[in-house]
Amino acid sequence: MNLIPLPAFQDNDLWMLHDGRRALVVDPGDAQPVLACLQRDGLQLEAILVTHHHPDHIGGVEALREATGAVVYGPARERVPQPQIRLADGDAVTVLGLRFDVLDVPGHTAGHIAYYCAAMDGAPLLFCGDTLFSSGGCGRLFEGTPAQMVSSLDKLATLPGATRVCCTHEYKLSNLKFARAVEPHNAELIHYLQRCEELHAQHLPTLPSTIEQEKRINPFLRTRQSGVAQAARAHDSATQQDDVAVFATLRQWKNEFK
Ligand code: ZN
Ligand code: FE
Repeated sequence: MNLIPLPAFQDNDLWMLHDGRRALVVDPGDAQPVLACLQRDGLQLEAILVTHHHPDHIGGVEALREATGAVVYGPARERVPQPQIRLADGDAVTVLGLRFDVLDVPGHTAGHIAYYCAAMDGAPLLFCGDTLFSSGGCGRLFEGTPAQMVSSLDKLATLPGATRVCCTHEYKLSNLKFARAVEPHNAELIHYLQRCEELHAQHLPTLPSTIEQEKRINPFLRTRQSGVAQAARAHDSATQQDDVAVFATLRQWKNEFK
């Protein structure tokens, strides 16, 4: 299987998965880069997986469906271009011979879903849209509460450590700089930031990350670490002791972080 991020807009990655003949694409906000890739590699698009309703994730759905006849899968509780097969937590779909389990991960939007494949070429794979960002970030709370996002991130954190995390935006360095502000003494984070800066300087992609890696460096998955909670309280002294309050402070802090 080939797993390819197709750059779109400013900082989106449209993930394409193909076996040399048949392909699927996740969150095609723009049809153009997908059509170009299909044509160049002689691929047939079989399915479009949508995680949530934002325009930068669904903008290309209609055009791709028209051009290829691909089947569209999407969140049951959100408005995305019809017809689509509506999915919610506990559902499973099989595309390109791979089984994807559907997880409800509300927070960024109210009906956001993620697609988890337990074995793709021997390792698990996650398409998580705008829920978790590698590295060191998470989606903004447009429609959900901090408590919802914490429980969604917890759900993702229980997936196997080797799970490759395919998210939609690569704000990598800015996320990592925020993570460093939260945990200046996290040696693994500092080391990883250096490596990413090197890759970035050579214009090389740094995706995908893994669940294991994110658990070590992503402050939004580390709200129960005492150092992270302390940093949140140092930033906003009104922060309560619980992990949802710590998360809320981090999210607010990140919104203002430059
Ligand atoms: Zn979004
Ligand atoms: Fe997005």
